[in-house]
Amino acid sequence: HLAERDGYAPLNSDFDNFYTRRLKMRINDCFSRPTTGVPGRFITLLDRKSDDGNNTFKLLGSTTETLNMSSYNYLGFAQSEGPCADAAEQAVRKYGVTMASPRADSGTSELTVEVEDLIARFVGKPASMVFSMGFVTNATAFSTLIGRGCLMLSDELNHSSIRFGARLSGSMIKMFKHNDMRDLERLLREAISQGQPRTHRPWKKILVTVEGLYSMEGTMCNLPALIELKKKYKFNLFVDEAHSVGAVGPRGRGVCDFFGIDPSEVDILMGTLTKSFGANGGYLAASKEIIDKLRTQNAAMLFAESPGPPVLVQIASSLRIISGELVPGQGAERLQRLAFNSRYLRLGLKRLGYIVYGHDDSPIIPVMLYNPAKMPAFSHEMLKRKISVVVVGYPATPLVSSRARFCISAAHTKDDLDRMLAACDEVGDLLQLKFSSGVAGGA
Ligand code: PMP
Repeated sequence: HLAERDGYAPLNSDFDNFYTRRLKMRINDCFSRPTTGVPGRFITLLDRKSDDGNNTFKLLGSTTETLNMSSYNYLGFAQSEGPCADAAEQAVRKYGVTMASPRADSGTSELTVEVEDLIARFVGKPASMVFSMGFVTNATAFSTLIGRGCLMLSDELNHSSIRFGARLSGSMIKMFKHNDMRDLERLLREAISQGQPRTHRPWKKILVTVEGLYSMEGTMCNLPALIELKKKYKFNLFVDEAHSVGAVGPRGRGVCDFFGIDPSEVDILMGTLTKSFGANGGYLAASKEIIDKLRTQNAAMLFAESPGPPVLVQIASSLRIISGELVPGQGAERLQRLAFNSRYLRLGLKRLGYIVYGHDDSPIIPVMLYNPAKMPAFSHEMLKRKISVVVVGYPATPLVSSRARFCISAAHTKDDLDRMLAACDEVGDLLQLKFSSGVAGGA
């Protein structure tokens, strides 16, 4: 109103983007819908109605319980009962909810120290540091480690938090084609030829940044090839394991575990605590020297709130369960269930004739819709069948590569997945989404 009166551009003047248009279309799906209860095997949505065909919604007072294919709850730790929840409840009684301080002030509790030690041991690095958000971990990591005169080579599909952090670092950023090791080698050769061999001059440091498992494609990084290139071209390697830690590898320890590679071969392992661990936050795990540097210079360490006690206890308990310390056998069982569920649903969808992207072991299953107009229709039809799904399109994907993204959990039962497949069968026919011949293993 002020802007209208005084004739300047209001701050929301460029806000009419893809996502707000979706809301304006009054689509009845689960996009951005408030929920109640635990985002576990099921998720309960609050029913709402748009008053004006715009972005304001009125809650109707009723709810809809849906099968949850939309939350990153890989190992089923998003729950309100069991050993993790009990321990988190006790932590609130003993420590309260907040640390009320950044790490560098009085925000480091005995729980923080314990969790950092547990994470370091879990991922196989000498030390680790936790942050209250995964996004903030990446957003602040790079400016502590690289800067002007350094080169960052980044996979073109790296998460926005990596791009954000990379820009803040002030280093030169070049992108290589997704998972294309030849393209990366081309850039490395170019970088080396610009300077002296070994020292990489004029680059003070070279950092290659990839994800373990890419959340939009379900693809796994080619870690063995990256390690070979690293030996040849001598660069630092940063792997974001947001979707791979606790989800892949025989012991659930991420891509190093999956490929049988010693974690000492990777300079920095980053991960989030939001997905497999059912908590909040992120971590960086590396040598003691790198972690020491972060502890003294990282902006989040100095200026951002530390993770709160119940969150830290949730991380510690879930890690102890995965590694079999707390409840013998349960971690392995959850990992097996996740692996089975991921393969079962992926194979079932391929048999139906859907085109499915990504690695067979990926708990994220991107299902191609292609046409952006089919996104709201797919999501709406699934919701009619009481299933919550996420659909993703431009700008997160190219315009004609719209997709649905199913998140598999160890909490899902085989019956849940059969229900999901039956719904996809019907909706696939309705919206003409079965693009392949339906031969298993295709696409
Ligand atoms: N890295 C990657 C690869 C991610 O996918 C995400 C979020 N999905 C993040 C970092 C940020 O983590 P968080 O949501 O825990 O802040």
